[in-house]
Amino acid sequence: MAYSWEKNVRTVDPYTPGEQPSDKNIIKLNTNENPYGPSEVIKSVIASMDDDYLRRYPDFAATDLVNELAAFHNVSKDKVFVGVGSDDVLAMCFMTFFNSDKPIIFPDITYSFYPVWAEMLRIPYETIPLKEDFTIDTDEFVKKGSVSGGVVIANPNAPTSILLGKKSIIDIVESAKDSVVIVDEAYVDFAEVGASALDLIDTYDNLIVVRTFSKSRSLAGLRVGYAISNPKMIKYLNDVKYSYNSYTMNYPSIVIGSAVIKDNDYFENVIAKVKNTREWFSDELKNLGFAVLPSSTNFLFASPQDGSAKEIFEAAKKEGILFRYFNQPRINDYLRITIGVDDDMKKVISFLRDFLTK
Ligand SMILES: *Cc1c(COP(=O)(O)O)cnc(C)c1O
Repeated sequence: MAYSWEKNVRTVDPYTPGEQPSDKNIIKLNTNENPYGPSEVIKSVIASMDDDYLRRYPDFAATDLVNELAAFHNVSKDKVFVGVGSDDVLAMCFMTFFNSDKPIIFPDITYSFYPVWAEMLRIPYETIPLKEDFTIDTDEFVKKGSVSGGVVIANPNAPTSILLGKKSIIDIVESAKDSVVIVDEAYVDFAEVGASALDLIDTYDNLIVVRTFSKSRSLAGLRVGYAISNPKMIKYLNDVKYSYNSYTMNYPSIVIGSAVIKDNDYFENVIAKVKNTREWFSDELKNLGFAVLPSSTNFLFASPQDGSAKEIFEAAKKEGILFRYFNQPRINDYLRITIGVDDDMKKVISFLRDFLTK
């Protein structure tokens, strides 16, 4: 029986994150976490954290973290916004900038949180199908950009792993000049040099670039994300954030997050290792007959020859190997496999070889 207050409830179909099993022996390749933990430098920062600060409110402006990010990206600090993971930053962006009656646009196959925020915040949206080869249809985005209420592009895209070229990003940003374009660069650190749209923020006043510490910087558990844009957009974002919850960044996140940005050699080393393993693993998958999309991320999106993605997903799970499988049109014969450490990826290849030759 429905309660009478239920008609006034804001109902939503929530985003479903990948499983987080408690069994540590599972080879966990389902949520694109970094397989390499924090460096010794970061562990000592954690150990020496000033516990007196836990009883106090944190610096609401997260000044240390903002300053480190500004220095790292060589921008002024009024161009940096920080949040509790990029999910928080993206939600704030949707809330702040997508406030018209016109639909926002994003690809039909992309980060599945975008339609969830749109639904929750009552933002009209329209999806633009990826092309047959799973690349973003730049021409369609350019055509619809000028009449849209905003644009969201994950670049590289997820779960396809494919990078959209800089020229296409520029064309889309130029076409949508009366609305805000969010480029979600969760995986850009695994892409080629020059892939980021960050160097365009001074040219286009409608562009905002969102990044996360969860993938390339091995800190999914800490929840740190940020955005870079012009000072005007950052001010509008902060106004919304402070109207919602003024202390979003906790003290450990500010301290550890700042230290991680300074720990650049370790970061570059981890990226290089993941990219090496990705190239090796991609070749192995192709040898096993998989079609593998060209990845600029820390995961591969791959389809087995015989249409058995779902069976492989289920069989792997029984063996303690967790992939991500999306039971949705167009991609229900693909597996999304995060790049783990070499030993684990070797085990995955031998599991797949056994499965496919059975
Ligand atoms: C993982 C991911 C995010 C969110 O990451 P956070 O952990 O919230 O920073 C955002 N966008 C895409 C495309 C992602 O894959």
